[in-house]
Order: sequence, then structure tokens, then C-alpha cells
Amino acid sequence: MITAQAVIDLTALQKNYDYLKNKLENQKLVAVVKGDAYGHNSVEVAKALPQADMFAVSRIEEAVELREAGISQPILLLEGCFCKEDLETAAELELHTAIHCQETLRDLEDAQLTKPISVWLKVDTGMHRIGVQPHEVSDYVSKIERTGKIAGNVGFMSHFSCADDLDSPATLQQIALFKKATSQYAGPKSLANSAGILFWHDAYFEVCRGGIAIYGVSPCEGKTGRQHGLQPVMTLKSKLIAVRQHQANQPVGYSQTWTAQHDTTIGVIALGYGDGFPRTAPQGTPVYVNGRIVPISGRVSMDMITVDLGPNAQDKVGDDVEFWGNNLPVETVAAHIGTIPYELMIKLTKRVNKRFIR
Ligand SMILES: *Cc1c(COP(=O)(O)O)cnc(C)c1O
Repeated sequence: MITAQAVIDLTALQKNYDYLKNKLENQKLVAVVKGDAYGHNSVEVAKALPQADMFAVSRIEEAVELREAGISQPILLLEGCFCKEDLETAAELELHTAIHCQETLRDLEDAQLTKPISVWLKVDTGMHRIGVQPHEVSDYVSKIERTGKIAGNVGFMSHFSCADDLDSPATLQQIALFKKATSQYAGPKSLANSAGILFWHDAYFEVCRGGIAIYGVSPCEGKTGRQHGLQPVMTLKSKLIAVRQHQANQPVGYSQTWTAQHDTTIGVIALGYGDGFPRTAPQGTPVYVNGRIVPISGRVSMDMITVDLGPNAQDKVGDDVEFWGNNLPVETVAAHIGTIPYELMIKLTKRVNKRFIR
């Protein structure tokens, strides 16, 4: 019997992509599928999005996997190539790369490319992680063009640090800086992530990059994807493997971290940190069972989670349990655990069976 399972709703995925694309005017929408599509399976996600203008990943291995699966749309390497040999592979596979520092520029100058490559210059407008400084842009552009190895015009991209915070002044500053540094160039420009697409119209430029939102999840704390018009794509489920009467004042689980206040029913679910559910989930983290929310009670173990089903519970061994998805927003669960939905979804292990539905 299959217990731990992530059900991936590819129809919801398509609807989210189309919903975001319709928000845009003529801009292109990149579907970000790094990290195995945020834990959803990048090949299945990419195949389910024939309408996607482009895909983006973080490592060349992720792009190679998509090409080997027959994905033919443009694929952008968000952090570029990490060595000259990878750049040669990227050109061969017609990937788009990023130049963000002297070393990546030197690799482009030195590489022996079989085909011209599309290049995006990554500009640091305030994240201060990777990217060239705005005053260095013109120097980089001339050096990139001088290599004679690029396809089309140099593109420009930058990344927001606080776009999920609607009150932060940083986003408007980043937009202004990006405009100032790149407006004299003809190449395509890209700044918006999911939060940019949802909340910052001035950030659209020619190309937008949607990650978390295409999976139906909100980029903002305290909000759910549904509140932005999105539908959750992943539902993480498992099953009750034991239902047990439990006496008042008796503890449950490792280190006896929880003790029942009254006689109750304990449900044991086949899912644990071995499936990627965080061991740090505190008492009271919500779980959806037979139409109601029940609290995790006792420590998350490797293979099992215990919940307090309450006195006189009617739940039976074999019943379905939902950890997040259609009935319980992943945003709510993440807030209880003190993390963000991105981390919960991407950390699922291979023991979790994936089922793709339409
Ligand atoms: C991951 C990533 C995105 C997508 O971010 P979301 O918040 O998931 O939309 C966009 N751009 C870059 C550079 C990224 O690394």
C-alpha cells in the first residue's frame, strides 16, 4: 500500500501559469523549475507546460536533464555556468547563461563554443549576492560583445531582495537602479520573481520569472496562494497506520515531549523526517484528517508522526491524512514550523511517492 505521497495536480499548474501570464501584457513568463521544480519533478512540470515561454534552473545538470527529456524551449541558467567546460555544454544545448563576475566573463572569453550563446548580464541592484555593479554594466557589455560569441543582444537581469514585503522601500529602489543601469541597451530585461509579478507592476520589463507562484503558493508570509487567485499544485498525504486509545497523563514519542491532558485517541501516520517533514515541527502543527484539523502531538520521528485525534475519534487505520495541499495551505504549515513553503516542498525525499494527476 502506498502511504507517503505527493499528489501533483498538473491542471492546477497549467492554470497558475496561464493566470500569471494573463496578468502580464506582452512580457514573457519564465517558469522557474530549479530544485526539481521546487520538489514537484522538473521533467513532469516542464512537459505539462508546453505554453511556457522559457524555463529557468540553477545548475547545468538540471538543464541537461530537461534537454534529455526532450524539453525544447529556451532554458536559462540563473547563476550562469561555473566553469568554461560547462559553458561549452551550455552553448551546445542552446541554454541561456548569465555573466555575473570577472571569472564568468573570462570563461566566455576563453571558451571554444560550437554555437553562439545567449547571454544575460546579472546586475546587482541591492541583493548583494551575485551580479556586477550598475557602474560596471557598460564595461561588461562591451567585453561580452567583443567576444563575438553571443547570440542576439546581451540581456539584463537582477533579483529582488524584499519584493514579498509590500511596505519595504527596497523594491522601488531596485527597480529604479535597474532601469537606470540598463535602459540604454536594446537587449531583453528581467527583474520580477513571483512577488514582482503579483505586486510590482513596474518590475515587469520584457521577461518575468515565476517560481513559487506557478506551484500555487504565495511568496508572502501571512498570505495563501488562493488569496492571490492561485491553486495549490502539491498535496502531501499519507495514511493512518495505527489508531490507539491513550490515557491521561501518559506521554507520546521520543523524549516524552508531549503528555495527554485527558483520555484521548492517538493516530499514528506513516510519514516522518525520513520523508522530508521537518523534525522541528512543534506540538500543535496542524494536520488534516477526515474533515478537521488535528495537532501533531509528540516528536516527529523518522517514519511516523503522532496526532491527537481527540476522545471518541471515529478515524480508522487506512484513512487518508493531508499534511498540506487542497485542505490545508502549505503556507499555514510552514508558519507553524518557522520556515517557508519553498523549503518544505523542496525537502521531500525520494521515499515520497509522486502521483501526477490532470
Ligand atoms: C528562484 C529564483 C526566482 C523565482 O523566485 P520565486 O520567488 O520562486 O518566484 C527568480 N529569479 C531568480 C534569480 C531565482 O533564483
